Amino acid sequence: LTRKSSLEHRSVVALTDTIAIGGDTLLIVGGPCAVESAEQIEQVARHLAPTPVQALRGGVFKPRTSPYAFQGMGEAGLRILDDIRQRFQMPVISEVMAMDQIPSMVSHVDVLQVGSRNMQNFDLLKALGRIDKPVLLKRGLAATIEEFVMAAEYILSHGNPNVILCERGIRSFDTYTRNVLDLGAVVALKQLTHLPVMVDPSHAAGKRELVPDLARAAIAAGADGLIVECHPVPDESVSDARQALTLEEMATLARSLDPIAQAL
Ligand code: PEP
Ligand code: MN
Repeated sequence: LTRKSSLEHRSVVALTDTIAIGGDTLLIVGGPCAVESAEQIEQVARHLAPTPVQALRGGVFKPRTSPYAFQGMGEAGLRILDDIRQRFQMPVISEVMAMDQIPSMVSHVDVLQVGSRNMQNFDLLKALGRIDKPVLLKRGLAATIEEFVMAAEYILSHGNPNVILCERGIRSFDTYTRNVLDLGAVVALKQLTHLPVMVDPSHAAGKRELVPDLARAAIAAGADGLIVECHPVPDESVSDARQALTLEEMATLARSLDPIAQAL
């Protein structure tokens, strides 16, 4: 998926030797909210590998609202992700919740995600500034654009230039959608910073039927990539089932983006 837009003063963040974000190709990431089993991730990878989806997502340390809900597979999930990225040559992205998880994350995944709830966990951000793997920093639930950019500065100023910003919706009064996707922030971040900007329409919308159109709108607004939740059997997802696409819907979405990217 290529686009023609002007690329001056942009940072390109490499996930692997061949896959990057912020250059002249979009980065499309798909996968479940949480790693549930080796079989589940393998099914996702097998389905998405032949599509324009280049990277996989899946949480193993999950920031759940309830402490009684599934908290993620932990280290066992990391080993599943490591195996799948090698077998399918697809980089994997997973969330880091605490400083003590950083060493094993660095050896098992390609991109460390900082979730919304940790956007201003400054000690975590400083520690991620001391590694050189890419960090996907998600906007806080109620963070201003300035707070978001300053959070990214924590990582950059501690020595890691490989930061990817991610708009994932902000809290508002309307409960119809889970959050409000702030595409104005995407445009602003592209103007204010040199960093690649991704959009997560899944956590913004909270409803799968809204996801593909929001994803396309994000690309039209200038996003460098998307991170979208999908699952072999969406309704059986252990977390965020309501917003998960089928694998077929994910592939169809990924294939629909090229004309939009080309028009920019
Ligand atoms: C996730 O990506 O599964 C997640 C928990 O995202 P966020 O931090 O944006 O809520
Ligand atoms: Mn999720």
